[in-house]
Amino acid sequence: MDHQDLMKKLRAHEGLSRRDALKMMALSPVAASVLAGAAAPTTLSASSSNAVGKIVIVGGGAGALMVLSRLRRAFAKPDITIIAPNEKHVYQPGQIFVAAGEYAPEDIIFDNKGYIGDDVTWIKDEAATFDPDNNKLTTKGGKIVDYDYLIVATGVQYHYEQIAGLTADMIGKNGISSVYLSDLAAGTAEGGTITHEWFKELHEAAKTSKPRVICTQPSTPLKCGGAPQKILYLSDDFLKRDKLTADFTFATAGDKLFGLPEIDAALHKVQEGYGNITNRFGHELIAIDAEKKLATFHHTYEVKGEFDKELKEYDMIEKEEDITMEYDFIHITPPMAAVDAVANSMLGWQKGSAKGWLEVDRETLQHRRYKNVFGIGDVCGIPIGKTGGSARHQGPIVVGNLISVMEKKEPTLKFDGYTVCPLKTSYGEIIMAEFNYDGLAPSFPLDPAQPRWVWWAFDLYMLQPMYRYLMLNGLM
Ligand SMILES: Cc1cc2nc3c(=O)[nH]c(=O)nc-3n(C[C@H](O)[C@H](O)[C@H](O)COP(=O)(O)OP(=O)(O)OC[C@H]3O[C@@H](n4cnc5c(N)ncnc54)[C@H](O)[C@@H]3O)c2cc1C
Repeated sequence: MDHQDLMKKLRAHEGLSRRDALKMMALSPVAASVLAGAAAPTTLSASSSNAVGKIVIVGGGAGALMVLSRLRRAFAKPDITIIAPNEKHVYQPGQIFVAAGEYAPEDIIFDNKGYIGDDVTWIKDEAATFDPDNNKLTTKGGKIVDYDYLIVATGVQYHYEQIAGLTADMIGKNGISSVYLSDLAAGTAEGGTITHEWFKELHEAAKTSKPRVICTQPSTPLKCGGAPQKILYLSDDFLKRDKLTADFTFATAGDKLFGLPEIDAALHKVQEGYGNITNRFGHELIAIDAEKKLATFHHTYEVKGEFDKELKEYDMIEKEEDITMEYDFIHITPPMAAVDAVANSMLGWQKGSAKGWLEVDRETLQHRRYKNVFGIGDVCGIPIGKTGGSARHQGPIVVGNLISVMEKKEPTLKFDGYTVCPLKTSYGEIIMAEFNYDGLAPSFPLDPAQPRWVWWAFDLYMLQPMYRYLMLNGLM
């Protein structure tokens, strides 16, 4: 079975049979455990609670739909309203495969209706303001919606405009790309398609020159923090496959490639293999001149000061400067924040590094001040967990704890911080970085730092149908 056959099956809404998948993966023990749904979180039995109360879910993405499906099954008489603007759902992890040319744009857009159900009140609008002291919110259209219990699942907002000289409509022109670009309220995601064109333009340019390519990563929390590097490696490999090359710079505001030392070391090894990538740590993109193809970064770094004889160590002095670099192609990851409606409300953290993100307990996902409010997904102001895989693990916790609160009990289920980052290190290989609040947390007894074909096959052919048919329906 080749790529075309597998994609045909995926597009025919068949998903893959267990037999197909095992054949495809040719690594039966690993594949079998994948198919068994390793680390599947606890599920609630159908109609397990008679608790009553009006539940309002805000958001129409992965977290909202996963939690909605579970809630509809969990209650004998559910009273659920969802406030979601989007008729279409974007399978955002697939944007990377669209960029790589492996998926067509339509492979990642699904109808939302099938997930919402006629027993649910669907307000096709966005929440504009929250008034948690009075258990109500107002939509953009001016409708006031009250609730007994609220689940916030509004995801993140991109802030391209924080990069001086850049507006979202410049992406796709003059060598600028961004795989993240999407309008989730409209159910569209152009970033993948634009980035695939960018791959092709870069490939064309590399036939006659050695283009300078910059891939950026900002200092804000990111959804899918690995995406900037996925584009870096895939675009490099896109050239390498045809014996072409370019000068790649990975300009990140961070001070390492990945937060976990084992994965960080593995990514450095991947870069050594390419041999044409320069890392610029502590570099935050602050401005762009699209005409002249100049990118300006705020560079922060430390230098050694005086040696302290008592402490037996050097004082470290913080320095900063602005640096402008020339480029031919640039892939931009935008600064991200909680959506304005949350960030500007009493629901957000009011101060600190998580200011504006939803103030939930990192384990119970219950709001720390408003006990009838819960959060799921990227909007949560918790240390890690901005992935669809995290939302999958959070779903049963949010539903279980909400039911406890509705039944006047303490919430006891705990989210362990599960986050998954399938780092595409080349066409055909992925480092499957799974971790939680305690560190690495691989679901399978395999070295998680090793790039593997089996993860590529799993991600490319199996995750989309699993997400579409199982996760969004709250079945795993
Ligand atoms: C390029 C890319 C690659 C990724 N790769 C992976 C991967 O490999 N693995 C993985 O697990 N995850 C990946 N992710 C992350 C994953 O897609 C998100 O973590 C996941 O979708 C989060 O779900 P969510 O419900 O919190 O937010 P979203 O799915 O983003 O949904 C938010 C929803 O809220 C709606 N909304 C926003 N504001 C309001 C409002 N005021 N009122 C009502 N509704 C509102 C939006 O329209 C949207 O429907 C990737 C993401 C991107 C962009």
